[in-house]
Amino acid sequence: MTDDAATADKPTTTPQTDDGVGDRQAPDKSPRTANQEDGRVTRRAEVSNLEIVHHYFGRAADRLELSDDIRAVMLSAYREVQVQVPVRLADGRIHVYSGYRVQHNGARGPYKGGMRYHPEVDLDEVRALAALMTWKTAIVNIPFGGAKGGINAPADKVERHELQTITRSFMSKIDKVLGPTRDIPAPDVGTNAQVMAWMMDEYGKTHGHTPACVTGKPIALEGSYGRESATGRGLVYMFREAAPQLGLRPEETRVVVQGFGNVGAWAARLMQELGCRIVGVSDANGSLQSEAGIDAKALHEHLQEGGRSNDFEGEGVESISAEELIELECEVFIPAALGGMIHADNADLLKCKLVIEGANSPTTPKADEILNDKGIFLIPDVMANAGGVVVSYFEWVQNLQHFRWDEREVNDKLGGVMRRAYRQVKERCADDVPPRVAAYEVGIERVVEAAQTRGYI
Ligand code: NAD
Repeated sequence: MTDDAATADKPTTTPQTDDGVGDRQAPDKSPRTANQEDGRVTRRAEVSNLEIVHHYFGRAADRLELSDDIRAVMLSAYREVQVQVPVRLADGRIHVYSGYRVQHNGARGPYKGGMRYHPEVDLDEVRALAALMTWKTAIVNIPFGGAKGGINAPADKVERHELQTITRSFMSKIDKVLGPTRDIPAPDVGTNAQVMAWMMDEYGKTHGHTPACVTGKPIALEGSYGRESATGRGLVYMFREAAPQLGLRPEETRVVVQGFGNVGAWAARLMQELGCRIVGVSDANGSLQSEAGIDAKALHEHLQEGGRSNDFEGEGVESISAEELIELECEVFIPAALGGMIHADNADLLKCKLVIEGANSPTTPKADEILNDKGIFLIPDVMANAGGVVVSYFEWVQNLQHFRWDEREVNDKLGGVMRRAYRQVKERCADDVPPRVAAYEVGIERVVEAAQTRGYI
């Protein structure tokens, strides 16, 4: 482990619960209504992210014939921190939020992972996302372990100054387990470059100016060029790798993007630049379609200027329901919202050739089987959406060197890493080994080897 064992808190042992690992039957339950507003957005499956991640781990671990004791180490987190974040908000009341940081595995380097601000954040969700980061950093072969954190606060419903107060309060309570050689947070759902700037500033109060302590910072504060677009760009590199084998040419490719946030908007814009047509998009406020194509750049600007997706106007653009979005005829479907959005009840409705997972755990295990049976090629989250953490790695490297690369250099290097990952995973694929299982195998093998070589296990 990367942490100094002498100074570190005693590692937490996560109880091994019945999470579906021992049960190869894919878990899936009825869709939950969370995150629904007026029925305009799609429902998410009630299977938890942790069940999803453990299920996929189990499939790969079986193929690797991993022993039970090694599985136990790989399934539990090294350290789990939960803190109380009491803040007095503008309504005069003290709101008590829960903040989390889970450091899953640091065998390959400092822990790395985003910070999510969302009312549904809980310890299990953070555990799942932390484990995903361990496999992801290993699959793209960058020298980090996996972590994740978050607060169960509604980032979009609090004032900017309240968000700053929440962030500083949280950071001041967890900074002891963070740092450039220990654990380096980054943005995720509900957080952005501004939140990272506040985190860096708060960390600096006790540790001195340390830009490498978080990534995804603003350009003005030693952020990296190309970080904001990196995850979306990484998805496009994946498309470019997969397209020839699927007979897809950009100018004949229709794309649907579910979740037009940072990842989805950049993926849509860059796919459009490549020559693809964006025929459907959605966000938490609604879903849009246009056979003629939705101008992703114009929609992005419209949202940046404070507009809402459902009042966006363009050629042939019309509002549809979240379910109708899933059913749109297209070649590429990009889920880029939250976990569990493609589930047993809607997977069969997808009409695409390729799914590129921008979100983390968007596909439940049952849905994964359905897509596989339908012959839909799927590039899994652990590889597809790694562009963000790859450029976070570049940002960390630049910060440690106090040196800045230009955007072209960042994008080119990102392309190199994503292509290498795609090809290495492809080599492991076979008729009965889809890309997700192959990717997990590659990641797990690397982590186990590092843990054994350094004598941790
Ligand atoms: P974001 O908050 O910028 O965007 C999320 C988008 O999803 C928003 O547009 C929101 O309105 C939309 N959304 C929420 N609920 C929805 C619903 N029910 N139906 C349709 N749309 C809905 O977050 P982001 O950073 O773009 O992250 C999106 C996903 O990508 C998450 O799963 C995240 O973990 C994953 N991810 C992000 C990064 C990154 O660098 N930001 C990296 C890897 C993975």
